[in-house]
Amino acid sequence: MSCARASRRLLPVRMSPGIATVELRIVALPLIEPFVASHGTVTTRTAVIVRVIGDDFEGWGECAALPEPTYTSEYVDGAFAVLRDELVPGLLRAASEAPIEAKDVRRLFAFYANHPMARAAIELALLDAECAAGGRSLARRFTSVDPGPAPTVPAGVAIGLMDTAGATASVAAARVAEGYRRIKMKIEPGRDIEFIRAVRSMIGADVELMVDANGAYTSEDHALLTQLDEFELSCVEQPLSADGPDDLERHAALAALINTPICLDESLTSIERTERAIELGACSVVCVKAPRYGSWLDAVAVLDHCRDHGVDAWVGGMLDTGIGRRANIALAAHPGATRVGDISATARFFTDDICAPVTLNAGRIDVPATTGLASSIDRVALERLTITSTTIST
Ligand code: MG
Repeated sequence: MSCARASRRLLPVRMSPGIATVELRIVALPLIEPFVASHGTVTTRTAVIVRVIGDDFEGWGECAALPEPTYTSEYVDGAFAVLRDELVPGLLRAASEAPIEAKDVRRLFAFYANHPMARAAIELALLDAECAAGGRSLARRFTSVDPGPAPTVPAGVAIGLMDTAGATASVAAARVAEGYRRIKMKIEPGRDIEFIRAVRSMIGADVELMVDANGAYTSEDHALLTQLDEFELSCVEQPLSADGPDDLERHAALAALINTPICLDESLTSIERTERAIELGACSVVCVKAPRYGSWLDAVAVLDHCRDHGVDAWVGGMLDTGIGRRANIALAAHPGATRVGDISATARFFTDDICAPVTLNAGRIDVPATTGLASSIDRVALERLTITSTTIST
């Protein structure tokens, strides 16, 4: 079946944003220092930026895929290719036949297997265009429940894997001094218990500390993971791999053995799997990453669900540029995001960005109240940091 046929069959279309052109870029942002997790190391943050353009509007989106296919199967060059060759042509073809809204993107691309981060990038660009046209902020778009979006969100930061426990503790202390309210440290076998002990000892009992294993442990590590309980961690994130058909059951079994709350990240790839994980007791904390769900609107639905069921949740980041970072801040303003997320200042990771910097203010970050992301784009920096671009028109 051709994509064109599938698009016609699947498309429900209503309002016309009049999309005629989509610009795709790969930008390269220099990191202050390499960021190391158990799934790999990022030294330069390349990312795909999507700009949808109509006669009198534009909308900006960002694909969260990392430079290499290590966190998930998506990666920058692959995401650029699937956007250029499949998703954007499909969007433009559909938009030429009938109006398209952001909420139609999930069904429009349901024909395609995988590529959730690429799909979410287009949805974000359409959401941004609609917010700009409608005169409301992304945060307001994401929060329809009372009391509405928060005006500021607390800042949290992630510390990558380092060579020694002492070095990790020193960095943690520096981040606390900068005002961060929550420290997340990456762990993996061999860089875990003593590293956590050093950090907890350095920052004291009053600072929220959590650890993220990115699935680096197995069910044979239950005894080691039990040792986490002595550090009063707010949670352990994705201790076991998300691979295989039984990852939720394996996490539920671990949850029965340890007191430290389990948070799931990589395992939660859909609204249905998130609800199932909560039901099974596989996690008591939810990391909400819109690009992982393939939809910012699905991420909102997950936050609505967590709020309705009294489940703690927070918004995770992906070393995002200023576009994805602002979108995550808007999402973190949802009342369902009850815990401190990966919401950090631009300067924490990058020496240069395509947007005006996101800054800390007494440990908090302002939620953008402006309509549309376009006003935050630094067009000169965008050109300077672009390494590849293409424009696709109907
Ligand atoms: Mg994680």
